[in-house]
Amino acid sequence: MKENPITLLSNAKDSDLLKINEAQSLLSDCDPSISPSVPYFVLSDDIARTSYCVDCIDAAVEQAREDEKEPSIVSSGGWTAEESSDIEVCGTCKKLLDYTLCDTGLESELSHFENETFDINDPRICYQLERILEGYNEWNESIDARILTLVDKILGKKNGSEEKES
Ligand SMILES: [Zn+2]
Repeated sequence: MKENPITLLSNAKDSDLLKINEAQSLLSDCDPSISPSVPYFVLSDDIARTSYCVDCIDAAVEQAREDEKEPSIVSSGGWTAEESSDIEVCGTCKKLLDYTLCDTGLESELSHFENETFDINDPRICYQLERILEGYNEWNESIDARILTLVDKILGKKNGSEEKES
């Protein structure tokens, strides 16, 4: 029996969205204590643009003023890093920073999690996965399909780990 492909597609979308919501709420439950700092950076021509967390930016500015003998150097930032190509961490303390992924970043993060085993009880991993899920419906269908496969992996882990540990 042939069904209208458009109906099939929209049905699939609904259940896919439910699955994604389920995975998102699972991930956000992982550790509510994780609230990444928005990134800051040193406004200077001489150093590569490194992001810092709110706790480390002042010291980084001081350091740059000293290194470059330029007391007028200041910091900038304080907003979510848009379109990041990778996970963003503080250049000093390596704490996670607030970011969203660009298309290339989304693809490389997907590849990473497709090929690695991961622990969804690790808050940092959860945060990374959440950023990937945000890319659903934003770009293209093959990426969406890969995100859904990852979602299955995430939801499967929840069920799997509960069975194993009990
Ligand atoms: Zn820091």
